[in-house]
Amino acid sequence: MHHRIKLFACIFRNKSSNRGTIYPKCIQKCRMTDLQWQSALYDLRRQIVAGDLPGGTKLRASHLAVQMDISRTPISEALVKLEGEGLLVRDKSGYTVRTFDLQEVYDAIELRGLLEGAAVRKAAERGVSEVELQKLNELLQALDDVLTRDQLADYDALNHDFHLQLAQASNSDILVAEVKRSYRFPFAAPSAFPTHAGDAKRFRASLAIGQHHHQQILLAITRREGTRAAALMSEHALLAHENVLVATQKQEAIPQLALVRTPV
Ligand SMILES: [Zn+2]
Repeated sequence: MHHRIKLFACIFRNKSSNRGTIYPKCIQKCRMTDLQWQSALYDLRRQIVAGDLPGGTKLRASHLAVQMDISRTPISEALVKLEGEGLLVRDKSGYTVRTFDLQEVYDAIELRGLLEGAAVRKAAERGVSEVELQKLNELLQALDDVLTRDQLADYDALNHDFHLQLAQASNSDILVAEVKRSYRFPFAAPSAFPTHAGDAKRFRASLAIGQHHHQQILLAITRREGTRAAALMSEHALLAHENVLVATQKQEAIPQLALVRTPV
């Protein structure tokens, strides 16, 4: 993180001078603080959603500032933002990582399916270009390849790219932003479920069904079948319901479960 901050400061130079005169210190400091709070936000959000900071963990700006070696101000800004995103709760004693019950996890997954569904419906109705179709087909083929070769380590990033490319095919910045926002809840992102954990055999079967959905969604977009594309996308997201339910029932070793309050 420090490296990135230093780099950022270096590129903020006066273009009119070949020697690279640095902007006045106040501007430079503002830019660095912006970057710091965004880095802190990204870092904390990643740790929460990955289950590294389990539900119920108290977060104090002073401790985090020491741990992350930055000042308290950007940390405090990041904590306010995370509270707004619904990942933290605040009371008199400070911020605590939220715990979600199963129904809330299901709702977040369902919402992701609805938003992605709206995006693919729009893509199908407006029609997508040959270039966009080619990109989507290439990603679909790459997903097929990793599943065939059982290279599951590569699956998550490709699946994430495929979902994002589908959302972008809507050509709607608003929809894309809302789809991305829906990925921020535990288990709601398309690749939220770690491929290396849990019951591998059952999970592989779930991936095969998911890939069949991917193929059908792309086919529906190509045929301009908006309603079908949206219905398939909603159904596709619901695969995650089953994965979460089984993982909680079997108490699988998945770090994100640290955020989920399971029924006793
Ligand atoms: Zn998928």
